[in-house]
Amino acid sequence: MVKCKNCGRKAVNDSLLCCHCGYPMTIAKVIPWPRQLWPVVPQQFWKAIIVLSLLLATLAATGIFVYAQRGLSCLYFSYSFALSLVVFFWADLGSRKSLR
Ligand SMILES: [Zn+2]
Repeated sequence: MVKCKNCGRKAVNDSLLCCHCGYPMTIAKVIPWPRQLWPVVPQQFWKAIIVLSLLLATLAATGIFVYAQRGLSCLYFSYSFALSLVVFFWADLGSRKSLR
């Protein structure tokens, strides 16, 4: 049980709004984060994913650079670069969530 910051009455822990006055309990809980996106795993898992995504981003950036120098299409490298960034932020958020 937690106390509502607005009215001071006790509210259910996992409710988004205070059941007495409707005050949002926490900003993070108001945003409907899909919890399934970030499984509960050890911190090492996220660190490994972050390292891998940074490695992929570096490879993709190198690929873009080399292909652009030769005047070739670097479309696939751009895709993998974007993907690695998405994975990086996903893992970064995941590691922050499991710290809580
Ligand atoms: Zn309240």
